[in-house]
Amino acid sequence: MEKNCRFSKKCGGCAWLDMPYEEQLKKKEGQVRKLFKDLCSVRPVLGMEHPWHYRNKVSAAFARTRDGKIISGTYEEGTHRVVPVEHCLIEDETADRIIGTVRGLLKSFRIRVYDEDTGYGLLRHVLVRRGFATGQVLVVLVLASPVLPSKNNFVKALRKEHPEITSVVINVNDRKTSMVLGDRDIVLYGRGYIEDRLCGKTFRISPQSFYQVNPVQTEVLYGKALELAALTGRERVVDAYCGIGTIGLIASDRVSEVIGVELNRQAVKDAIWNARRNGVKNARFFEGDAGEFMTAMAAEGERTDVLFIDPPRAGSTETFLDAAVRLGPERIVYISCNPETLARDLKYIRRKGYRAHEVWPVDMFPWTESCEAVCMLSKIRDWQKRR
Ligand code: SAH
Repeated sequence: MEKNCRFSKKCGGCAWLDMPYEEQLKKKEGQVRKLFKDLCSVRPVLGMEHPWHYRNKVSAAFARTRDGKIISGTYEEGTHRVVPVEHCLIEDETADRIIGTVRGLLKSFRIRVYDEDTGYGLLRHVLVRRGFATGQVLVVLVLASPVLPSKNNFVKALRKEHPEITSVVINVNDRKTSMVLGDRDIVLYGRGYIEDRLCGKTFRISPQSFYQVNPVQTEVLYGKALELAALTGRERVVDAYCGIGTIGLIASDRVSEVIGVELNRQAVKDAIWNARRNGVKNARFFEGDAGEFMTAMAAEGERTDVLFIDPPRAGSTETFLDAAVRLGPERIVYISCNPETLARDLKYIRRKGYRAHEVWPVDMFPWTESCEAVCMLSKIRDWQKRR
């Protein structure tokens, strides 16, 4: 099943490109086994059937070579040198073609690429998002200033080549930063977001909002998370680090109430919209730091029956976990894109009256070293008495 990639050495994105897929899965499972051996039972890794072109979000940096050629691709590992990448084995192929078209249009539209050293030039990055189930495509042009010359004609030329594009947005990033996106979005065409379907529900995803990059495996991951939550229809559920509300909204048919919390303003707006879009009436979403939000809930004596946690790579915080325990959930389902911080947080919650039962590694990122995992914990009933 191995394939060749002539960009791989410099790009470094697929560190395991030379390893057969079955072996990658074993290795990921092995890593999780090692980390969790004294914590809970480790279940078999959930791999992907066709592990190619799974990334629904593709971002390319742009640069000019010394001889004036415009290139686009990823940064060479650990540097800000752009490696020209025209095809990628894990990225969505439509997205790669669109980025190629943008590259080809720059010269005739006299759009200069941004130079990080001098600060001159306009185009910094292009980000493409594609709805796996809907086919909707959003193109985000990340510019150093809000003005794109002949913008309407540019959009027209782009859509002529790619009629599948449903929206084009300018994102203004005028800061000296290695972050791809700035704060401001200007919609040039379409609705300014894509929609995608996951587990029977439809979700709006704005340029700034987090959305899982591997939609096929996301359904596997969420399916397992919901199974582990063992919902009966009566539960009050907290979805912490909820993004655009995916997990909570997918669970909403099987619970009495969903409360979601998320730091990113645009994502919270998407979550609220997504609840309405799917006719979900029992879900509320709040903007804020998850730790502060949970602490405030605990201080008001609120309770929850099931808690979903899905933090970024750094994991959760002790403030969050202290408050989480005070809300008294019977079950905690913790989803993590970093097994190390998951194991660290499990060790912490275990000291507070919870037992970790099982962890499932899920391969969301084939050919790379990253591993996702979902773990279930439950409250130890007579824990206070036993102490
Ligand atoms: N559960 C969602 C999102 C998971 S990614 C999904 O499956 O799609 C993690 C999310 O945590 C991101 O949306 C990020 O914006 C959010 N986040 C990061 N730090 C946070 C914090 N301190 N409090 C609340 N949310 C945070």
